[in-house]
Amino acid sequence: MEKILVLTHLDETGSALSRASLEAVTAGLELATRLGAPLGIGFVGSDAAIANSLAATGARLLAVSGEAFAQPRYATDAAACEALCRAADATIVLVPAGARFSRVAAGVAYRLGGVVDTHITALGGTEKLEATRWFYRQRVEAVISRSARPWVIVLDAGTHAAYVGAPGNANVEQVAVELPATRTTVSGIRAPKQDEQTIRPDARMLFVAGAGWTKKQPDGQIHVDDAAKLILGFLRATNASLGSSKSLVDQGGEGQSVLPFLTHMNQIGQTGATPRHAKGLSTCCHGEEPHVVGWRFIGERRAISLDPNCGWTRGKADVVYVADAFAVIAKLNEMLSTKG
Ligand SMILES: Cc1cc2nc3c(=O)[nH]c(=O)nc-3n(C[C@H](O)[C@H](O)[C@H](O)COP(=O)(O)OP(=O)(O)OC[C@H]3O[C@@H](n4cnc5c(N)ncnc54)[C@H](O)[C@@H]3O)c2cc1C
Repeated sequence: MEKILVLTHLDETGSALSRASLEAVTAGLELATRLGAPLGIGFVGSDAAIANSLAATGARLLAVSGEAFAQPRYATDAAACEALCRAADATIVLVPAGARFSRVAAGVAYRLGGVVDTHITALGGTEKLEATRWFYRQRVEAVISRSARPWVIVLDAGTHAAYVGAPGNANVEQVAVELPATRTTVSGIRAPKQDEQTIRPDARMLFVAGAGWTKKQPDGQIHVDDAAKLILGFLRATNASLGSSKSLVDQGGEGQSVLPFLTHMNQIGQTGATPRHAKGLSTCCHGEEPHVVGWRFIGERRAISLDPNCGWTRGKADVVYVADAFAVIAKLNEMLSTKG
């Protein structure tokens, strides 16, 4: 019989499990029910209060604790995950994707003599486990099953609901880990300020800026400064994530006026990202196929473009406003500011 283990870690506040970890817990519970298999949840660097928040899962709870595991670091995280998998004797290990565990998952699978699959978006099957992932820029969907065990499965974030349950009194088994030799000392975290950090995978809405923001407008002039203020104002008011078309982020290399807060990391599309947000609003973008490919998993798509014949109006968006995005976003920002 399979034995399932979900690995979890804290988010950057250090006082709650990461959202991706809670999603993996949901996936683990669903899978354990479907396969009729026992479920374990492993904590790396969590305290008792965190374990209590998962008491209602009824899962076997195992933890690796100690100062050395409070910070993300390859050597200590890999050792902790390996020890948890061995203690649980797991045959299927569900790992939340993210900077912390994605980098150790393959190493842990290797140490256990197992196999690993990444970017898994769904788990299915009743007799045996089937894991789904996309290939070739989200165009080909594959369903994978494997006989090798343990099978380490890295789950993409945004694919499951985050677990919520009433807290209880958890019985947590402490798993001992012999500290590996470490050459890395974590001296602190340097990250951009929250409002400079424009890529927000957890946001409900994706706001996409296209090249139109930097094109000549009806008065014959370009208005890049106004565009920057409008876009940043909208992001601040809504906490939306910022995406871009390729044309807009490419312009920097061509020596044209650019929006300073956009990089290729913001690019959505065939050669860019494929984010998952409940809603998306595209502005000043033509909606060409290589761009729209990246909108595949956006729940509801809206677009604002001056061109009534743009790609969005040809069936690629749910709602298209044929309007001047400068005027629409200025009005929206005004309405959002009075909403408080
Ligand atoms: C192999 C390949 C891969 C590619 N990969 C990607 C990719 O990953 N991502 C991507 O984005 N592109 C990609 N492209 C490029 C893609 O085909 C398009 O060229 C690009 O997406 C167009 O960007 P755009 O719509 O911002 O610019 P444009 O095509 O210049 O369109 C600008 C739009 O803004 C509108 N506009 C102007 N002013 C206003 C205003 N005031 N209000 C409202 N609307 C206004 C215009 O009407 C126009 O529709 C790829 C192309 C190839 C060949």
